[in-house]
This record gives sequence, C-alpha cells and structure tokens, in this order.
Amino acid sequence: MTERKRIPDDRRRTSFAEVNIGLAEAEVLREAARCLSCGVCDGCDNCLTFCPDHAVTKRNGSYEINYDYCKGCGICIHECPRDAIHLRIRQVPR
Ligand code: SF4
Ligand code: SF4
Repeated sequence: MTERKRIPDDRRRTSFAEVNIGLAEAEVLREAARCLSCGVCDGCDNCLTFCPDHAVTKRNGSYEINYDYCKGCGICIHECPRDAIHLRIRQVPR
C-alpha cells in the first residue's frame, strides 16, 4: 500500500493548504491494480469446518447451505475471511 504523503508540519501551522497531498498518477494506477477480491469465495473451507450443525456441504468445489439444518447462528459469516456469506432474515408466512 502506498504511504499517504502530507505537507510538512511547519507548513500546516502557517497555512490553510491541504494537508494530504494525494497520489501521483503512477501510484494511483498501482493502488487500483491491488487485489479487490472481497466477497469472492476462495475455497478456504472455513464455513465447512466451523459450522456446528454440519449445514454446509461442498460439492464440485461449490458450497451449499442446507437450511433444514442451519440455525442462523452466523458463525460461518464470522469465520469467512472474504465476506462471501451474508445472512438475510426472511419472514415466514403464518
Ligand atoms: S449460520 Fe450457523 S448453522 Fe447456519 S450454516 Fe452458518 S454456521 Fe452453520
Ligand atoms: S469461509 Fe468464505 S471463503 Fe471460505 S469457503 Fe466458506 S464462503 Fe468460501
């Protein structure tokens, strides 16, 4: 990650200049090329391993949650390093 550049302390005290200088074009391009894979499962198996109710299964490299066994505890969400699992509350018709 590119370190943020700032104007020197003595200039901050004597002017209203913007403190954060910003990035040069080459730095912007390098930052934009960084890995942005949050939300994309990388197959780490954490959800499979930590689900206390064995509600997660893996088949052909994909994961499925069996809602007959899932109690909605959210442990898989907490253990997922990629933020790839989300909990939605559904209203059950009466
Ligand atoms: S919410 Fe809880 S029970 Fe459901 S799949 Fe995740 S860890 Fe398992
Ligand atoms: S914990 Fe997240 S990243 Fe790991 S296998 Fe499960 S969904 Fe994929």
